[in-house]
Amino acid sequence: MKRKRVVVLGATGSIGESALKVARDIPERVEIVAMAANSNAEKLAAAANELRPESVCLVDKGKIDILERALAYQPRIFCGEEGLCEIACLTSADMVLVAIVGTAGLRPALAAIEAGKDLAVASKEILVMAGEIVMREAREKGVHVLPVDSEHNAIFQCLDGRASEIRRIILTASGGPFREMPRPKFDSITSEQALKHPTWNMGPKITIDSATLFNKGLEMIEAHWLFGVEMKRVEVVIHPQSIVHSLVEFADGSTLAQLSYSDMCFPIQYAITWPERVANTLPPLDFSKLAKLEFFTPRYEDFPALSLARRAGETGGTLPAVMNAANEIAVAAFLDGQVRFPSIWQIVERTMNEHASVAHADLEAILAADQWAREVATRIAKTSHR
Ligand code: NDP
Repeated sequence: MKRKRVVVLGATGSIGESALKVARDIPERVEIVAMAANSNAEKLAAAANELRPESVCLVDKGKIDILERALAYQPRIFCGEEGLCEIACLTSADMVLVAIVGTAGLRPALAAIEAGKDLAVASKEILVMAGEIVMREAREKGVHVLPVDSEHNAIFQCLDGRASEIRRIILTASGGPFREMPRPKFDSITSEQALKHPTWNMGPKITIDSATLFNKGLEMIEAHWLFGVEMKRVEVVIHPQSIVHSLVEFADGSTLAQLSYSDMCFPIQYAITWPERVANTLPPLDFSKLAKLEFFTPRYEDFPALSLARRAGETGGTLPAVMNAANEIAVAAFLDGQVRFPSIWQIVERTMNEHASVAHADLEAILAADQWAREVATRIAKTSHR
């Protein structure tokens, strides 16, 4: 197998760092040809100085001089949102890893597909928002969309091309830090408590999403689009140890699962090297040290994110984009100390209730719904009690 030439969008984030670890671990199979970040010029320069990609991109144009000063060599430098789309289309790249938090990865992802690049998608928000469009464009261009999210990567590994025989997809969820907390205590949850994930070390937005279970809700819709499976076949089970990353039940009643320690290097490497499996230095499971693997039904009443996501996914159209945007606003308001933890669900639900979904929306309608939801959710957050 030749070396995969990869563009990493979101190189300074938690997924980006893991992707760079993978490149260091198997350099004979992975070459990072470009890296992008939003505004962290120093961290981007440090990573670039080590791995020497031919191009770098910083969205924040005001920090380009910091980037230039910190670089120890002369890569091509791109900037702004247009720069993200340009490096996603580099002729030297085989694949673009989209690991930008939120929805800013959507346009570069579509540009990469248009340029015939395979996508490795960590940014679940873009599939929730515009999964129909992304998957259709990818089919038409004949490019692969490879899941990086550990759950979807697990499903991808279990399926191995057998999509038509699926009876159920079962996404595992750690349950987050409040899995056992009684509902009356939710009002007093602080951002420090919510930012402590029991099993995964991730960026702040996804860590809060894991605490509310919106992360799993987003993943239900992501699975629906990635694997072409109806929402009613996508289920969730709580698995606090985060060792079984997801399961697929087939038509004959057999269930396959994928297991590994909770380290994002596993799914990132598989997405990059697929269809090959490449030897690495990651630790395999030591079954003598795994005390137990537990599975529980989620507390649907106490964590309304799962039902809201099911409703959004089943309704389709612009409603998933609205749910996603409202959630982003609500999470930011919670992290800013403006609203309480349970308000995140309330802000999202109220925003969804005010929306009239447009079926089979085009990109323009989706972006308009996203913007509308941000404004409505911001208004609702301002009137929510602290
Ligand atoms: P982080 O917050 O750790 O990193 C976000 C990255 O995106 C940074 O490189 C940041 O740059 C960049 N970025 C932020 N805004 C923009 C923008 N407007 N334009 C360009 N780049 C931007 O996030 P994570 O790595 O945790 O998550 C990234 C995505 O991967 C999310 O969609 C998340 O849901 C998904 N994911 C994450 C997992 C994890 O383990 N962390 C697991 C599965 C999925 P800068 O540093 O300059 O701000």
